[in-house]
Amino acid sequence: MSLRARLYRWHWEARSRAAGFGMLQALRLLEESERWERGRIEALRDAKLRRVVEHAYQASPHYRVMMDAHGVKPADVRGLADLARLPVLTKDTLRTHAQALRFRDADAVGVEMGVTGGTTGNPIKLVRDLPGTVWQRASYWRGFGWGGLRLGEPFVQVFGGTLGVASARPWNRAKNWFSGKHFLAAFELGAGNAAAYLDALARSGARFIVGYTSAVYLLARHALRAGARVRLESLFPTAELLPPEWAEAMTEAFGARVLPYYGCGEVQSLGYSCPEAAAPVYHTCDEHSVIEVETPGGAAKLTGEGAFLVTDLDNHAMPLLRYRNGDAGVVEPPGCVCGRTLGRITRLDGRVNDVLYTSAGDTISGAIGPHAFRLIEGVEQYQLVQRRVGQLTLRIVRLPAYAPAVAEPKLETIFKKHLGAAAEIDFDYVADIPRTAAGKARFVISEVAPPKA
Ligand SMILES: [Zn+2]
Repeated sequence: MSLRARLYRWHWEARSRAAGFGMLQALRLLEESERWERGRIEALRDAKLRRVVEHAYQASPHYRVMMDAHGVKPADVRGLADLARLPVLTKDTLRTHAQALRFRDADAVGVEMGVTGGTTGNPIKLVRDLPGTVWQRASYWRGFGWGGLRLGEPFVQVFGGTLGVASARPWNRAKNWFSGKHFLAAFELGAGNAAAYLDALARSGARFIVGYTSAVYLLARHALRAGARVRLESLFPTAELLPPEWAEAMTEAFGARVLPYYGCGEVQSLGYSCPEAAAPVYHTCDEHSVIEVETPGGAAKLTGEGAFLVTDLDNHAMPLLRYRNGDAGVVEPPGCVCGRTLGRITRLDGRVNDVLYTSAGDTISGAIGPHAFRLIEGVEQYQLVQRRVGQLTLRIVRLPAYAPAVAEPKLETIFKKHLGAAAEIDFDYVADIPRTAAGKARFVISEVAPPKA
């Protein structure tokens, strides 16, 4: 380990001790608790949940209103088994009542402000207190540690950042250097400068990349085309679905393990890939956050398939209990070859509003896109745009190998099979597919309003 990395760890040690209970203590605890007997983890979760519910009721004006309206008192929630008694927090409520959801004196205690944009372009103002920050960061470093990236070691980060403004300031540059972070702007990455990005990656000496899935994939594709030899240890893509062929390209380009992680702007640590499981699986951060799944019948459970409701067990400054974050998937109980006693996300779908509607009005996962396009030659990029039920536009950026006479009937057959024989499939050939304002590539754009529950 370099002198800089050792100094960086020492600085965290000092900061953690000064805080009484800081990030490194939390990290050490999490590295043990991931293998605790399950009952002990459950007891910790139950105790944290009781505290945050009690606090939400006492100190956050809007939770009191919501809980009173549902006829539930803090004493009714003794643990996770009672979680479903609490009302669901919707994105709309979070947006319109952000101030009233906060702890009344949140501004008086040390809080970290954050703004989350998501893909809607309608930002939500969040606040996080010190314990919320400490546990979230510790979960993050534990998860990266599973892939070999330890606090202080050099890594390349490919995110949206602040569009180059803040990272250009000397103080931020110094902070990045000290932490071992080499920032590369995801938005600016394109065919024209990919070679420079690969150079920067090679020069950094880092063996890890953390970044948007689509940006890491772009880098991998350019590395393959250019025949660049950059050998890395692990890649941590996030924020977008990872089609298997993207993961394959990443492994091929960098010779690295691909370990996607999962979080949302509101609750950032929700799942980190198990490095040992044969099939891709995320271990949930059970000591810090809870994921429930809303089944189609409406009942929410701690395991099963459906839309996610997430709970942050540590942030008291702005409690997030049963927040419907817009994602969906399959959550299964612990039971992994690695021996960790944490829960598992075995399938992660796109945002639930990124589903497609069949002509019969059923929903199917937008993950059908990667499955269909895997069978088609010569597609550089694609996007599925659904304007109304019974219709789908396939937006495609072509490569020379693309043959419409072969590809179009094939795609039409696949999508009609899943959306309905009468579905109208349109092809739109474009030069580029723009990313959203938040810099994410989206596989599915749905303009169909979801049916009212
Ligand atoms: Zn595992």
